[in-house]
Amino acid sequence: MQTCPICYKTVEPSERYPHYVCSDCAKLAKSQDGRALIFFNESISGGYAAKYADTGESYNSHDCYIHAVKCYADEHRFGGIVIMKIENQ
Ligand SMILES: [Zn+2]
Repeated sequence: MQTCPICYKTVEPSERYPHYVCSDCAKLAKSQDGRALIFFNESISGGYAAKYADTGESYNSHDCYIHAVKCYADEHRFGGIVIMKIENQ
């Protein structure tokens, strides 16, 4: 059984992403200074992109914070975005 590393809710098991956060927690991702972020694919073929939710200004980092836990957002292998907790912090 796999659980979300932030809220410990049961999630769909993923061998490739053993530490991914659930969709509820993913919505809470913020920059280090506490601004809400939106992650998306650059194009229909994929790619990672992020922007600030308030101004729409682009966010040039993969780092994000959920409940002050540092996480890493990236393009999901099957499309969309996956956010993982960074281990060993
Ligand atoms: Zn969660």
